[in-house]
Amino acid sequence: MTLPRWDGLLLDCRLATLCDNGAAYGAIDHAALGWKDGKVEFAGPQSQLPGDPEVLAARVESARRAWITPGLIDCHTHLVFAGNRAEEFELRLNGASYEEIAHAGGGIVSTVARTRAASDDELFAQSLRRARALLADGATTIEIKSGYGLDLDSEIKMLRTARRIGEELGITVCTTFLGAHAVAPEFAGRQSDYVDEVCIRMLPAIANDKVADAVDAFCETIAFTPTETRRVFETARALGLRVKLHADQLSDTGGAALAAEFGALSADHLEYTNEAGVQAMAAAGTVAVMLPAAFYTLRETRLPPIDRFRTHGVPMAVATDVNPGTSPLLSLRQAMNMACTLFRMTPEEALRGATVNAARALGLADRGTLDAGKRADFVVWEIDHPAELTYWIGGTLARRICVGGHWHRVATPAHA
Ligand SMILES: [Zn+2]
Repeated sequence: MTLPRWDGLLLDCRLATLCDNGAAYGAIDHAALGWKDGKVEFAGPQSQLPGDPEVLAARVESARRAWITPGLIDCHTHLVFAGNRAEEFELRLNGASYEEIAHAGGGIVSTVARTRAASDDELFAQSLRRARALLADGATTIEIKSGYGLDLDSEIKMLRTARRIGEELGITVCTTFLGAHAVAPEFAGRQSDYVDEVCIRMLPAIANDKVADAVDAFCETIAFTPTETRRVFETARALGLRVKLHADQLSDTGGAALAAEFGALSADHLEYTNEAGVQAMAAAGTVAVMLPAAFYTLRETRLPPIDRFRTHGVPMAVATDVNPGTSPLLSLRQAMNMACTLFRMTPEEALRGATVNAARALGLADRGTLDAGKRADFVVWEIDHPAELTYWIGGTLARRICVGGHWHRVATPAHA
C-alpha cells in the first residue's frame, strides 16, 4: 500500500498560472493542482498527472471547471492606522475649506494623533478588519507600511501590529518602515531635524528590532526632498535594508531615478515620472507600482507613463494603497479594475500586476505564479474568464482561498 503523497489535489480546474507558457494569463485548461507542505507540487494538464488522483493525494476534489489564480499580492498598503477620515470626507463634500478641515483637526495629523493614542489591541482590532477585507477578495500576501506614528515607539507599534495581523490571519505580511512619510508634529518647521531623527535614531533601532522588511519614503514637494530622501536611503543601505519610494505622484522630482539609483524594489505612484526615470528603473529592475485608487480619490488627471513602462520592459504592479486620506479602498480587485479603466492597463497586465509583478516588488521569489515549488497560495474564483476579475466592480468572486496549503473559507453562503 502506498501512502498519499500530496496534501490536496484539485481536478477539473482552469489555471491562470501567470507563467510564461505562451498562453494568455499562462492559462492551462483541463488542469489539476496538487500541493504538499504548503507548496505547489503539480500545476499542469490533468492528463499529465503522474498517477491515479486517489493515490497521489490525501484529499481529492473537483474544482468544477473553476478558474484558479495565484493568491493576490497587495504590495503597497498603509492599512494599520486608528480612526478614519470619513468625517473629513463629509465636511469637504459639504463645502468646508481646507482651513476649516484643518481647524477641525483633519488631515494626516489627525490620523497620527489617533494612531499614537490607540492601544496595541485597539490598533490591531481596527486594522485587522481591513486586512480581512483584502483577504476575502483574494489577497494572501499584504505589504503594510508604518508612517502614522512618526516617533520611534509608535512606528514600532505599527510595525508589530502589522506582523501580528499576519500571524492572526495566517497570511504573509511584509512590513515597511515609512518614518519619512510626514514631518512629526513636534518637529513642525524643523524638517531637517526630523530627518536626523529618522536616520540617526529611528532607522538603527528599527533595523536592530528586525521589525521592518524594507524602508520607504515620500519624496514630493509637499513631503521630503530628493536630498532628504537620499539620506534616508543611504542610511537604510548601510543598515542592510532594501528601499522603495513614493515617487513622482504630484510632480516630477526625479524620484523614480533616485529609487533606481539605490536598486529600489519598487517606485510607486509615478504619474509624473519622465523618460530618464523610466529608463533608470528598467536598468535597475525596479518595479513600477500603480496606485489608481489614490489617483481616483484625488481626482488626478495626469496618467502614469504606462506605454513607456511597456516599451522599456519595466514590470508593472497594481496595489490598493489602503490609507485613510487618499485611498480608503479595501479590495485589490477594485484597484485592478481602476488600473484598467483609469490607466488603460489590460486585464492581463492588471492580474500580473497583482501577482507575479507584485511578488517581485516585495522581493519574494517564492510566489506570484502557479507552478511547482511555489507557495500553495491560490484562489478559486466564481468566474468564466480571467478578465472578470478586473471587469466586475464589487461583489464576491472568491469561492475558496488557500494560503500556504490551508483553506480559508471566505465565500458567501450561496457559494460555500
Ligand atoms: Zn502609499
